[in-house]
Amino acid sequence: MDGVLYHGDSPIADAFSFIESISDIPHCFITNNPIKLPEQVVEKMTSMGFAAPVIEQIITSGEATALWLNQQNPNFRYFAIGAEGLHKSLQKYGNEDVENADYVVFGEGAGIDYESLSIAINLIIKKQARLISTNPDNTVDATRSGQHWVLPGGGALVAPIVVATGVTPITIGKPFPLLYEMAFNRMKLEAHNCLMIGDRPDTDIQGAADIGMRTALVRTGRFLSGEIYPDNLHQPDIDANSLSELLKNIELE
Ligand SMILES: [Mg+2]
Repeated sequence: MDGVLYHGDSPIADAFSFIESISDIPHCFITNNPIKLPEQVVEKMTSMGFAAPVIEQIITSGEATALWLNQQNPNFRYFAIGAEGLHKSLQKYGNEDVENADYVVFGEGAGIDYESLSIAINLIIKKQARLISTNPDNTVDATRSGQHWVLPGGGALVAPIVVATGVTPITIGKPFPLLYEMAFNRMKLEAHNCLMIGDRPDTDIQGAADIGMRTALVRTGRFLSGEIYPDNLHQPDIDANSLSELLKNIELE
């Protein structure tokens, strides 16, 4: 979503007309960002001027984490470090338990501190809690005082726990398959019938290609016009400088 439809709170110029053009085609919005709840994402899009999506069209890595844990273990016990949206998603399905959590859940965003890190480490080492990470991004792009600003991503924030415990997290967000699969389920479609549109070669495009989707890179976010595409990553089927350029390259039927 960020880098494709908007930058922070500013919509990308041709995103409105693009969304309008695909209004008759099933689509979902999937984001590695766990900070906002799906209903808050709907509000954000509406306040920017997008036609309001249906809440089921929004899949955040925080909501997906909670849904997945619920599938693994209904009424799961968790200890979470992350932003409010992640905590609220987890509260819907599981029970917070600082003493005996089955899962330590790490989410991108504010919330990490020395005390929570030490609780997490002890739950993993002493109580065999499993380590879950909402998303693997090392950094994320943001805006501060109108300027580009880099924030630590989910991958960077979970790193202290990985170092301290030697445990590899189960990661929910792109490029791992879960967010895409939730979208297919909601649309009742299969991977080969779907096109992934994203701005990041390493997550959006690589993950989608790995599970058999067609892929379209738009160079409006992480990866800009003129940059050389990394040759160790899956090349996108369509490589466009903008959503309107992408629209010229796809058959909307
Ligand atoms: Mg993006």
